[in-house]
Amino acid sequence: MKALVSHGPNQPFSLEAVDDPKPEKGEAVAKVLACGAGLTVQHVKAGRTPIPFPRIMGHEIAAEIVELNGDCGGLSIGMPVTAYFYLTCGHCKWCLINRQTLCENFGGYVGRACDGGYAEYIKLPAKNFVPIPETLDIYKNPAEIGVICDAIATPYKVLRRGRIAPLERVAVFGAGGGLGIQMLKMVRWANCHVTAVEVDTNKFQACLEHGADICVDANTNDAHEALLDASGGGFDVVIDFVSSTKSLEMGVASLGRGGRLITLGGGGGAGSEFKLNGMSLLSKEIEVMGSRYCSYQEVLESLQLVGEQAQKGLMPLVTRTSGFEGLEDIHNDVEHSRITGRAALVL
Ligand SMILES: [Zn+2]
Repeated sequence: MKALVSHGPNQPFSLEAVDDPKPEKGEAVAKVLACGAGLTVQHVKAGRTPIPFPRIMGHEIAAEIVELNGDCGGLSIGMPVTAYFYLTCGHCKWCLINRQTLCENFGGYVGRACDGGYAEYIKLPAKNFVPIPETLDIYKNPAEIGVICDAIATPYKVLRRGRIAPLERVAVFGAGGGLGIQMLKMVRWANCHVTAVEVDTNKFQACLEHGADICVDANTNDAHEALLDASGGGFDVVIDFVSSTKSLEMGVASLGRGGRLITLGGGGGAGSEFKLNGMSLLSKEIEVMGSRYCSYQEVLESLQLVGEQAQKGLMPLVTRTSGFEGLEDIHNDVEHSRITGRAALVL
């Protein structure tokens, strides 16, 4: 098969003919129709997340099952599928209560610990393939449906984890990024008042088009006042995709009574410490929580949700696609934040 092989950090993709993957017992192989090309993959390509090389990257697939080996749950040949990003054990306490992102025997990520979707075929443990409901047509919208497993499922989990309710005032920090735009759409769908917070004012228009009521430039001196104005005195929820020391402290400071801060970003680095005032936490009953990706069940529910609500604008926004040859350019643009919404490889 043809595949984009990565031979090391900061190396261009190499389009190569490699052996077709053969499934072991409990594994399945799927033919890839599309695979999302986002910042999660770019972090690896740019060497910010170390992995073993050579590697075929990519995890947000729309694909069709072509081969099975042994017990593969409910999968069958010809079934349209997407992928669950985390390689988990399936039997620890956390897997059993459907919080797979906390798996005690975590085996790494699709496209990092094992080969991913930048290829004509992908082999995964059968439990990592998620069936796509009939309400979605992967042959018509392969790129959009491929990215649901992350672009919609991650925000979907945030709505739940943050107990976000209609009419609440919600801010999204890093709103113009790949996941931020989808988060705006989801918060709008949840019938909240939405404030987009961005440092790149060129992205304000896209934020307004995809659900934001107000945009705030986080780089100005009066950003704090602007946030308090936008929230009428303090947000119910701040969702932070930037997660730097500055953004986290700005986020907490802009919360109102009963406010919740949810941090998802990796861009702040492992050492992005921030200060909290204990008395303010107590007096306003503020909650601070982390949110990692989503559960398998949340991927399933996200697919169902988009299938049922696609007319209401929940289909992910994909603004750039290419075949194997154009993916290097796309990743270059992902690196420099030049893509609104999402991009994808389409085969
Ligand atoms: Zn587990």
